[in-house]
Amino acid sequence: MTSIQIGAQALLGGFGNLLLRRQVFIRRLQWGIVAGYAALLVVPVVLPLPASTDFIWTNLTRFAQFVFWGLWWPFVILATALVGRFWCGILCPEGALSEFASERGAGRAIPGWMKWSGWPVLSFISTTVYGQLTSIYQYPKPAALLLGGSTFAAIAVGARYGKAKRVWCRFLCPVSGVFGIVSKIAPLHFRVDPASWPAPRGRPDAVNCAPLVPIKTMQGAAACHMCGRCSGHRGAIRLAWRKPAIDIVRGSGRMATGWETAMLLPVMLGLVPAALTWSGSDWFLAIRQWLVEACLDAQLMWPLSLRLPWWLLTNYPAASDIMTIVDAVSLLALLALSAALATLAFGFPLAASAWILRNRVRPMHHLAQSLIPLASASLFTGLLSLTISQLRMDGIMLPIADDLRSALVLAAAVWSVALCHQITGLYDRRFGRRLLATCLLALPTLTFAVGWAAFS
Ligand code: SF4
Repeated sequence: MTSIQIGAQALLGGFGNLLLRRQVFIRRLQWGIVAGYAALLVVPVVLPLPASTDFIWTNLTRFAQFVFWGLWWPFVILATALVGRFWCGILCPEGALSEFASERGAGRAIPGWMKWSGWPVLSFISTTVYGQLTSIYQYPKPAALLLGGSTFAAIAVGARYGKAKRVWCRFLCPVSGVFGIVSKIAPLHFRVDPASWPAPRGRPDAVNCAPLVPIKTMQGAAACHMCGRCSGHRGAIRLAWRKPAIDIVRGSGRMATGWETAMLLPVMLGLVPAALTWSGSDWFLAIRQWLVEACLDAQLMWPLSLRLPWWLLTNYPAASDIMTIVDAVSLLALLALSAALATLAFGFPLAASAWILRNRVRPMHHLAQSLIPLASASLFTGLLSLTISQLRMDGIMLPIADDLRSALVLAAAVWSVALCHQITGLYDRRFGRRLLATCLLALPTLTFAVGWAAFS
């Protein structure tokens, strides 16, 4: 290690220790964020909808929309990819409130059903779909209902289960699964060195790891919220650099599960791109046209005209924005189609690559982890389109933003292919087989990126 690297590691270790020493300050910061979050969530609900002449800097509702969907959502994803889950451990208002409730709550044991690994996938799908059906990016009421409901559930779970823990964040939070996956490419983590973990003398000291990470055996950083409370613990844990994505190739990626593959393939590479682009999609229009004609042929008028309350389907007559049953079914069909296509397009090459390498299931899920850079870049740049469109509405143009987004997705695809090739080397040393397995997955990976760049 060079002296510069040693200095950088020492600096990082010092920052980790600073987080540990400044827990009181972090708690105060969290309360400040909770206050801002509550104000931006609740106040726009009682204000009139913004007019076309309102700007982000002149209208609180537009400002809140920009903060939630133009800044918070895309840039938390970016930050998680760059530095890990600091957002979760230090800044997230929901996590802070859940832990606060848990400190004073009933402290019951966590029920078995809550530990089911499928919850992060199911809750992310349901909130994404519900958000699109109710136009959460455009209107304050669905935002308050979905985000406020999630916060309420986080507090309720905290008040009932665990003692000073973040049970909600660990098992049920709708975005926890995505954050965990994206954080695997971060070059920062709390490194644990079990070999230098000294045997406890007397009563063992304890660390309150709120998201219930088994600290001594922690693999990677997917579950770690980077709160810093274990920094320096027994001289065996410190904040440290690591090679970006090394966790995917040699760390927790080796123990990847089917649920993580499900989050990557049908959800992050299928459902999410469709959910972020459906309103301008030719496929959506084609499905809708077909359904409209089918309803007219059958003389069924109610799917074309029935209005449902805003908390079920978008319903804002004053803004001429109403989602009919036909619109909703078309949207759901598009999302399901996109998820199915992504599963098939990536799933078959993955299964074939795993078969070429070893004919076992484990390499397939491990190989699927190589798609994390592509899925993360596609998610971030897709969400960034919300930022760009909101700024454009206010006359702020970002001329090269679209080119940069495309370049990022293409670069991430190349990175994914390179990671795939590295992973193949762990299962088979024969170059020909490795090349064939890599090429099989490279085909949908690069096709996805080129398609994304062409049509986004
Ligand atoms: S392992 Fe737990 S205590 Fe340590 S930094 Fe991560 S979340 Fe905090």
